[in-house]
Amino acid sequence: MILIHSRDRILQELDESLGYFAQKKLSQRGIEMVMNSRVQDASSNSVRYKSKITGEVTSIPTSLIICTIGNAPHPVIGQLDVANKAGRIDANECLQVVTDKDTDDEKVVPGLWALGDAAFVRDVTKKKEDGSYNICPPTAQYAIRQGTIAGKNIYAVIRDDPIRAFKFAGLGQMAVIGHLTGVAQVMGFNFSGFPAFFLWRLVYWMKLPGLLPKLRVALDWCIDLFFPTDITQMRVFRTEKVDRSHYHKGAWIFHEGEIGDSFYVIEKGEVDITKDQGEGKEPLVLATLKEGDSFGEIALLKKVARTAGARCKTPVDCLTMSRTDFQALSSTFKKFRDDLTKHVEKIGEQNKMRMTKQMTDRMSTGKLKEILEDDPEAKEADGDDNGAEKKTDKAKSSDQTGDKSASKADSKEKENQSEDKEVKSS
Ligand SMILES: Cc1cc2nc3c(=O)[nH]c(=O)nc-3n(C[C@H](O)[C@H](O)[C@H](O)COP(=O)(O)OP(=O)(O)OC[C@H]3O[C@@H](n4cnc5c(N)ncnc54)[C@H](O)[C@@H]3O)c2cc1C
Repeated sequence: MILIHSRDRILQELDESLGYFAQKKLSQRGIEMVMNSRVQDASSNSVRYKSKITGEVTSIPTSLIICTIGNAPHPVIGQLDVANKAGRIDANECLQVVTDKDTDDEKVVPGLWALGDAAFVRDVTKKKEDGSYNICPPTAQYAIRQGTIAGKNIYAVIRDDPIRAFKFAGLGQMAVIGHLTGVAQVMGFNFSGFPAFFLWRLVYWMKLPGLLPKLRVALDWCIDLFFPTDITQMRVFRTEKVDRSHYHKGAWIFHEGEIGDSFYVIEKGEVDITKDQGEGKEPLVLATLKEGDSFGEIALLKKVARTAGARCKTPVDCLTMSRTDFQALSSTFKKFRDDLTKHVEKIGEQNKMRMTKQMTDRMSTGKLKEILEDDPEAKEADGDDNGAEKKTDKAKSSDQTGDKSASKADSKEKENQSEDKEVKSS
């Protein structure tokens, strides 16, 4: 398991010694730490991250990503006139909304109050060196207590009574790092290991409403103390039949020859459909598909391995449908199946034409010998099918004599391209 973090250590909110303690414990359990790095993008088969120090981008092949990104204010808040540059609402220590906070022009907006994660509330218990105040952290400890003060202040304003400031220094912070181990900073004291884990559990247990839930949870947690982790696999049924996936530029969605397990529709970006040209050679691009185009159906309809590869020309977002769902849809929805079958036949013809054209182009530039020498597959194909050479001769003679068959092939190719456009637009 690899943990990627954008800072130089994990648990930045806690004391340095606790952060390093947690980091050491996780490393001892075999978790690899990648610090000072930010994830660039994640696809269904890889994660790419960039080092903030060297700028180097590294790719990790994986199909399991656990993401724990910090919370952000709701975008609705950012659209309000009173929102600040960070997309939150500035408030003074009495939780009144203010403009031009911490300046000589600071003004209260009458009748507006802000608290919780959406607000930047001045924390009068923590003064900075420059004389300004810190902002209350976005945690439930603060939000709940601010709620009480806000309610009392609104009531006071209605009754024309004086309002009061929110003053709370925080109770501390705790985190568990698994295996009955935790780290905690409570009222200036640092704990780690089992005591911190126990304290963490105790705090949350005390918050459970009612005696019965408390008993149930306590029993459950006690069982965990004496038995190993329960690894029974739960059968989870998906509710959505269509998934979304993202791929970075240059990533392979699938390779030629792989087992086909999904059908794709491009939401954003461009995908090259490629044919292998032998080891060490750049694959031949048969078509470049764009937004709204689909691919991957041949392997599913014909029950064969992937007949071509799919590589992202740009970053790509796709809708994906699994083999089972695709088969369920194509076996019941006749028009969908018929249209796809026609589409597949057309693609087959187009690909044949493109390959033949490429062969002809290569040969007409006098490279046939080179190709046959380097490419045993081409040699084989040459032997199999009455000889590409014969076709070349024909093509050559048609070039020289102005044979109509060459122009026929040309017009067929043009026809083919216009069909291709039609298919894409449909
Ligand atoms: C995974 C996680 C773990 C956390 N653990 C802790 C912890 O251990 N200790 C701790 O102190 N804090 C913790 N926090 C932080 C804590 O949850 C928040 O600070 C706290 O919930 C903020 O309260 P709030 O009332 O400001 O916002 P919220 O609790 O987010 O309430 C906002 C409400 O507004 C609703 N809403 C949003 N948009 C609209 C809309 N357009 N119209 C109507 N309603 C809308 C939302 O559905 C939500 O119910 C954790 C947060 C997360 C995400």
